[in-house]
Amino acid sequence: MVELKGVKKRFGNLEVLKGIDLKVDRGKIISIIGPSGSGKSTLLRSINYLEVIDEGSILLDGAQVNRPDLKGLAFERHINHIRQNMGMVFQHFNLFPHLSTLENVTLAPRKLKGVDARSARELGMDLLERVGLADKASAYPSSLSGGQKQRVAIARALAMRPKVMLFDEATSALDPELVEEVNQVMKRLAEEHMTMLIVTHEMGFARDVSDWAMFMDGGVVVEENTPDRLFTHPDQERTCNFLRKHL
Ligand code: ADP
Ligand code: MG
Repeated sequence: MVELKGVKKRFGNLEVLKGIDLKVDRGKIISIIGPSGSGKSTLLRSINYLEVIDEGSILLDGAQVNRPDLKGLAFERHINHIRQNMGMVFQHFNLFPHLSTLENVTLAPRKLKGVDARSARELGMDLLERVGLADKASAYPSSLSGGQKQRVAIARALAMRPKVMLFDEATSALDPELVEEVNQVMKRLAEEHMTMLIVTHEMGFARDVSDWAMFMDGGVVVEENTPDRLFTHPDQERTCNFLRKHL
């Protein structure tokens, strides 16, 4: 479903991704762990083309995401189409503050897919139901808790019926008691075989939910394995040191 080959990304002189290879099969869940500054967010943002990569290639369901051959409007059209197939959830929710919960969820299908108001409402209510927030449909983000905001953000990302969901530390801005409700929503998605890339610093959750785990440091994948193996018997010194501090 997602494949990266030799992906490199620089910010000025700083090489942040130094040749990343990665493959996520349909319905599989990969967790990416690693210290702050190791390039995890840049990696997710590159997959979604929020960052333009310098080298390598990114494929989504067989379609090339980076297309140096396309320019201007043709590229815009291409990338908008690609982005519709990827849902991204950020650490800081990024909900539209002037829109109700339901409007946050239905905006993209209405604007980008031309879904009519009634179908959009049905879809939106259905998704809010799935994240346990149907009763908050007309509430505004400012009146929601962090956990509720993040669940709305997940519903909003799902509204475009993406093929892949990308989560960038979705629970790290939350008070500890609100983490579980968001994890539950992510676990349910996993059970429904959504393809997911999850950047997280919650080792227990990563171990529970994922099919494969990667440890990144300094812009490279230092080590990857089944979560059981990576979290209990890491092969690399750097992974051991990181896990010792974070388990
Ligand atoms: P992580 O998510 O693992 O903490 P990031 O991908 O956010 O790491 O950052 C990796 C490195 O890239 C860091 O050194 C960070 O300072 C740098 N970086 C990230 N975004 C930018 C940017 N837009 N401009 C310059 N440097 C950046
Ligand atoms: Mg990050």
